[in-house]
Order: sequence, then C-alpha cells, then structure tokens
Amino acid sequence: MIYYKTREEIELIKEGADILGRAHGEVAGMVRPGVKTKELDKVADEFICDHGGKPSFKGYNGFPSALCISTNEQVVHGFPSDYELKPGDIVSIDCGVFYKGYHSDSAYTYPVDVEDQAVMDLLTHTEESLYKGIEGAKFGNRIGDISYAIQQHVESFGYTIVRELVGHGVGKNLHEGPEVPNYGKRGKGAKLKDGMVIAIEPMINLGKRNIVQEADGWTIRTSDRKPSAHFEHTVAIFKEGTEVLTTHKYIKQKFKG
Ligand code: MG
Ligand code: MG
Repeated sequence: MIYYKTREEIELIKEGADILGRAHGEVAGMVRPGVKTKELDKVADEFICDHGGKPSFKGYNGFPSALCISTNEQVVHGFPSDYELKPGDIVSIDCGVFYKGYHSDSAYTYPVDVEDQAVMDLLTHTEESLYKGIEGAKFGNRIGDISYAIQQHVESFGYTIVRELVGHGVGKNLHEGPEVPNYGKRGKGAKLKDGMVIAIEPMINLGKRNIVQEADGWTIRTSDRKPSAHFEHTVAIFKEGTEVLTTHKYIKQKFKG
C-alpha cells in the first residue's frame, strides 16, 4: 500500500529526520577502534528519546536496539553488542526515528582506519549510488528509474547488489509500499507521485551477491564473507522537485576517521 503524504505530514517527517541526523552525528563522533557497538547504540537511543522521538527499530518485530550495526561481511540488521570496532573494519549504522506519528530512516557505512583501497572504494561508490538513485527519484519517473540508476553505477565497478532486501515507503509505518529495489529497469514499477516518501538504500557487495541469515534470526551477511556497504536516505517526491529529508551532514562534521 502506498500512502501519499500531505505537506504537513512531510514537515513532521522532516522534523523527526533532523533528530535522526543529529543522533547519527553523536554516533559518528564515537566511531573509532576500541568502541563497543553497544556504546554507540546507547548514545543514539538516549539522544533520540531526549529529543522527543522514539527509536523506530527498537521493538520492531522484536528487534532489541535503536541501531542496526553491521560490520564487514554483515549487510544489515546486526545487533549492537560487546564487539569492539578494530582497525580495518567497516561498520554500517542504520537508524530510524519515530516522531509525532511518523518515521524517518537513514544509514551510513564508516571505515574504521581502513587501509584496503578496494574496501574504501566500495564505500565511496555505494554512497555515490545512493545519490544516483536520488537523482532518478523525480516526480513523474518510476521506481525502476531509481533502481536502474543505482544498478548501473555499482555494476560499472564490478560490485554486486543484494536483491532480497530493498528500500521502501516510509510514513506512519517504518516500512510501507512501494518496494524500492536496488536493481531494475528504467520506466518500470510504480509512478513517483507528489507526496510519496521513500527510503532509498543500496546494499552493495564487494564479492558475490548472495546473502545468508545468521542463527540469531536477524543478522544478514554475505555468503562469501566479503564486505558489504549500505547507505540510506529518506526522500520526499514533490512536483516541484525531490527533497532529501534525512541528512548525513552531522556525520560528515563529527566523524574523525
Ligand atoms: Mg534503515
Ligand atoms: Mg530502510
């Protein structure tokens, strides 16, 4: 089901998204070797609650934490834990905020003193692909135009695309229609109409595209255990132009890596 939002509803999503962006910034300032991933979760959880929001993921289908923290070969849905980040890791931090009845959702993958250029390039090109997808997310286009833009970009570097997990509509529900795959054909899929709010979130692998779920029932990792990157924004489609509602600007300010 696709729910089209009013300008007022999208303003509320944007307010929540600002809290989300600043929560990401708090986390970004702590990402370094030696930090436990559960310490990152605690900071984000407290920041969101102190600013009038609720962490969208906590309790979602029983998920235990405010953040999904996925390192290296983990693609998404990893748990915060006693694991300490170490040099050479990459870590995807995915967070959602529920504020005044609406969710927003965004993710960023950090390098933790990474020296492997192939891994750094994976992050760079996956982040670029998010913005290629956003360029495709224009009023009057279709979902496939977003998917195609992401696919073209990442496949040109020889990366593979996780197909089982996709972007999604966002609003009163964390996950709504339409699905936003990271691969597809131009001109196919649902039309992008005024008032649509969608999360675009490429999940891109350095090795093969196949994934498996860990025995914890949540964590998704690459089957070949090669690294995977994940970047996400929530965007609103308007006739006058697309607006990115979430922000990574606080991440860029605070991350010292
Ligand atoms: Mg997310
Ligand atoms: Mg999402």
